[in-house]
Amino acid sequence: MKVYVLRMGHRISRDKRITTHVGLAARAFGADGIIISGDMDQNVLSTLSKIVEVWGGPFTIRYERDWRRVIEDYKRSGWKIIHLTMYGIPLPDVIESIRMDPSDKLVIVGSEKVPGIVYKLADLNVAVTSQPHSEVSALAVFLDRLFEGREFYKEFTSAKLKIIPQERGKKILKLIEG
Ligand code: SAM
Repeated sequence: MKVYVLRMGHRISRDKRITTHVGLAARAFGADGIIISGDMDQNVLSTLSKIVEVWGGPFTIRYERDWRRVIEDYKRSGWKIIHLTMYGIPLPDVIESIRMDPSDKLVIVGSEKVPGIVYKLADLNVAVTSQPHSEVSALAVFLDRLFEGREFYKEFTSAKLKIIPQERGKKILKLIEG
């Protein structure tokens, strides 16, 4: 099962940091890639690519102007479209059936107001609590519940650096000479 994240509505002026964090959370919590829509922002794409270069992948990063076409194309290819929104069905009520479904998944998170059509195109509108918070927290909790914590043991390939967990202090293994 592949999982891609579609980050909608990126605004260069306001979302540079949070869109980067959506990408970082997507990668760290086990997604296979991110598609960013909204303003084209080379800085965000480069920052995320550098993280993959240093800390490993595989993790695909790309920009698509036309988010609707992305959703429709993935849907046509048999992917399940899951839109994270506080107005949706509570995550605990649907996570079991999402997990049991072997289809690849496109997980949508918004920034500003998400267009109404997204609620209709989605196979599922899922709430990570029915309270407002952020795309980063919604995505992290969703992926952790989807993978049931297995992302903690995910091995990334082609990494230059790897952390060796310590009770105190920092230990970093240098894997590939830069
Ligand atoms: N008011 C906006 C709306 O109408 O969708 C929400 C903006 S919120 C800052 C940005 C994104 O975070 C949302 O599009 C959604 O993907 C995610 N989000 C925030 N709270 C959420 C929640 N409780 N459950 C699921 N997703 C949430």
